[in-house]
Amino acid sequence: MLQTVAMPGSVPEAQRFLSSLEGAIILAGGTVVMPVLNYGTDAFTSLVSLRKVGLSGISVETGKTTIGAATTLAELEDEKALAFLRPALDTIASPTIRNMATVGGNLFVKQPYGDLAVCLIALGATATIAGPGAERIEPVEQTVSSGVKAGEIVTQISLTLPAKDAFKFTKATRKAFNSAAIVTVAAVVVLEGRVVSSARIALGGVAKTPVRATSVEKALTGKPFDHAHVEAAAKEALKDIDPADDAYASAWYRARVTPVHVRRALLGE
Ligand SMILES: Cc1cc2nc3c(=O)[nH]c(=O)nc-3n(C[C@H](O)[C@H](O)[C@H](O)COP(=O)(O)OP(=O)(O)OC[C@H]3O[C@@H](n4cnc5c(N)ncnc54)[C@H](O)[C@@H]3O)c2cc1C
Repeated sequence: MLQTVAMPGSVPEAQRFLSSLEGAIILAGGTVVMPVLNYGTDAFTSLVSLRKVGLSGISVETGKTTIGAATTLAELEDEKALAFLRPALDTIASPTIRNMATVGGNLFVKQPYGDLAVCLIALGATATIAGPGAERIEPVEQTVSSGVKAGEIVTQISLTLPAKDAFKFTKATRKAFNSAAIVTVAAVVVLEGRVVSSARIALGGVAKTPVRATSVEKALTGKPFDHAHVEAAAKEALKDIDPADDAYASAWYRARVTPVHVRRALLGE
């Protein structure tokens, strides 16, 4: 049962609450934490809110951006320099949820949620993590797959803005709005002429956490970016995924459609 709600005014103060309050977890937008609390299914007894710790806001400088972990998805949608992310953000829940949901919280939601995390992995973003003693910076990919230790707080996300039209995204769902992913595909593909010089591809909904499609990346790189090569490379995605059955789709179906959606995302079909 909930016993304490702490409203710290800084990251160090939040860390002190996290280490001193028994059964404490971070509360960001609360879109996941609050339903869990209301169902009474988890063991946490204290909430440490990030609302007033000063982790909101977006800065953009010479092709790079830094996003505070408590920035909401609605604030991201409003940032002109991040317009390439809007089609992805629009697929996440509803405007009401996006007004509350934060960038940091999206890294830790269970699949088949975590669509922004999939985008951040494709973009090669890094997370800054404040630990009890020190701060570290690591690829978002790692934060998403290993999580953070007790008492650690993701403070910001940094990334290099992709070149025009290099970022690609698609999300296959059971219904058009407010639906979890069957498969989410995000990619940054850089071409030299007609040939792929680099590719970073991330997939959601097809493993326990969002994953890199490294087999597809390898198959694409150095090849012409045409239908035949992309279709062949997309089939390689089956080597990178480990789908499970859930209420939205069977593991069989998720595997069956993944290469199709990878191809569609890459070619904008
Ligand atoms: C109806 C509904 C529909 C949804 N649809 C989608 C969807 O389509 N796509 C999608 O991606 N998501 C979806 N979600 C999931 C969720 O709303 C978002 O992913 C959101 O970004 C989570 O952020 P939050 O701030 O609300 O997290 P919270 O609920 O506050 O926290 C989630 C987890 O992250 C931890 N956490 C939060 N911030 C930090 C931090 N800075 N450092 C360390 N740990 C932290 C918390 O302790 C908790 O474990 C949906 C949710 C709902 C309720």
